[in-house]
Amino acid sequence: MAKLKDTAKEMVLNTLRKKLDDTLVAMNLVSAGAKMRLKQEGHKTMALEDVPSTPDMDLTRNISRLTKTWKEMEEAIRRVEETGEYGTCLTCGGEISGERLRISPAALNCTDCQAAIEERQKRIKGRGHVEGNGPLYV
Ligand SMILES: [Zn+2]
Repeated sequence: MAKLKDTAKEMVLNTLRKKLDDTLVAMNLVSAGAKMRLKQEGHKTMALEDVPSTPDMDLTRNISRLTKTWKEMEEAIRRVEETGEYGTCLTCGGEISGERLRISPAALNCTDCQAAIEERQKRIKGRGHVEGNGPLYV
């Protein structure tokens, strides 16, 4: 369906790798910002890892979102490298719109399937289940 020619493949991989770098930079910024804030609050010797007793919801959300983006990006890169496929929905096999790919280049599902997946995850979370994606902080 959406098999890429070698030149297109290079371009897609470059875009995705750049996005991956951006995400890493953003993660570092978020965590550096948190450390700085702790410092300002007087926790001079406390490392970020040492303060789970005062969870910062914004920070957790940010890191969690960035980690997710990062994983998606890695998955998309792996998929392009191994199969040369890009822009095909993992779930229904349909084509992912160019618009969606421009906004999130690492999208693995089309808009419809993504919405269905998120809806299902919300329901799972609502029941108190935690999905097995491993801990945020290792
Ligand atoms: Zn789909």
